[in-house]
Amino acid sequence: MATVKAVRGTRDLLPPETELWNRIEATARKVFARYNFGEIRTPIFEDTGLFARSVGEETDIVSKEMYTWEDRARAQSEKAQSLTLRPENTAGVVRAYIEHKLGENGQLQKLYYIGPQFRRERPQKGRYRQFWQIGAEVIGPPFAGSESPLRDAEVLEMLATLLDELGITGWTLEINSVGSSADRARYNDVLRAALVEVAPKMCADCQRRAVTNPLRVLDCKVPEDQPIIDGLPKITDSLDQESKDHFAAVTAALDAAGVPYALNPRLVRGLDYYTRTTFEFTHGGLGAQNALLGGGRYDGLSEAIGGPKAPGIGFAMGLDRLVLTLQGQEQTVLEAIYVNTPSDAYIAPLGEAQNAAALALASRLRKSGLRVELGDGTFRLKKSFEIANKLASRIVILGEDEVKSGILTVKNFLTGVQGKIPREELVTLLKKPAGEFDGQP
Ligand code: ATP
Ligand code: MG
Repeated sequence: MATVKAVRGTRDLLPPETELWNRIEATARKVFARYNFGEIRTPIFEDTGLFARSVGEETDIVSKEMYTWEDRARAQSEKAQSLTLRPENTAGVVRAYIEHKLGENGQLQKLYYIGPQFRRERPQKGRYRQFWQIGAEVIGPPFAGSESPLRDAEVLEMLATLLDELGITGWTLEINSVGSSADRARYNDVLRAALVEVAPKMCADCQRRAVTNPLRVLDCKVPEDQPIIDGLPKITDSLDQESKDHFAAVTAALDAAGVPYALNPRLVRGLDYYTRTTFEFTHGGLGAQNALLGGGRYDGLSEAIGGPKAPGIGFAMGLDRLVLTLQGQEQTVLEAIYVNTPSDAYIAPLGEAQNAAALALASRLRKSGLRVELGDGTFRLKKSFEIANKLASRIVILGEDEVKSGILTVKNFLTGVQGKIPREELVTLLKKPAGEFDGQP
């Protein structure tokens, strides 16, 4: 029978690599806490309409990448609801913000999430069908200051700090303003007009986008199209004064805080809901999929899905890509994590009759904070010693005599010293570094 494998575009994360994932997540939580962000966990699937209305029908995500199915309320029921595995998390967070009336206390909501997202994309390095994002949103009623350019700058400064604390070196921040929805509409018209002449020379996707969603042409990655795109009108020239002032205030705050950035007038990002500030952090070590994270302001999103006016700004970073980046750069840190450090003790019960006593001893040691590997009654001195030697720095032998007398035999694998010690002194002994020779086991 053929074996069952993990589905294309999905993968198992195994120890010790999961240590690195945990370390990244722990660092993110620690940094978010310093900025007063709280964690939100939204469902993994949502009503399909949520994504269609927020991310946008014309985007790659909604038009071809979503895992969608008809879900019946009851097994026999005819009525079905269209559900979708979340391809991103901002829509879910804003839905929750509306559903729980989080804006009603008049304060800014600062929320972060960590979790899997799903998109039917062509799997390649740094691109999977189930991938993980760490993201955050700052959202609230306008009188709470949610539109302030300081919020944008604070989020960007937080991201620079987080990447630095993760140990990611050599990142680049690119920012742009796509203006208000009126600015975007105006620019779309300018762009559509300019594309009439050049689009036929571009890739098939761009020819389609030139008609359906001209802004997306700027996202094109096809090398031959790049010189044409460089010659197109810039969105910067279509911004009204308010949007220009907003953007200038963002960059002034970044300058004051010493966050380095590059202006990129082509950066429009894939999703429909972005307004004003948009940004991306990239890393050269990632190859073709070089975006570590992306984000921006989405002042009209809440209203687009039936909520109150609630401007906001947020980002989503690809956890898979953070892991790849760190694996590519930080050998010393990784080695410290990946080299299996031995346990403090291996407990070897000699014979099944000593199994229960061995568990009781392991329980005591572990409660005192020691890391313990528990053998079982099949322990045979010669062969099993070799295994224990690999797993732990000391072995505690538990034979019938030891259990009766409470005097245990301990061997220190690093110094080779073996001796007997009373059970009450075991914790103190095991907490001593195993490599130091002082005559004790
Ligand atoms: P890309 O240009 O790489 O497709 P995107 O614009 O589709 O990115 P967003 O929707 O903004 O990406 O998601 C934010 C981040 O999530 C990306 O910068 C990336 O790090 C990560 N990401 C997006 N799609 C995937 C995927 N299929 N596999 C792994 N990470 C992903
Ligand atoms: Mg994408």
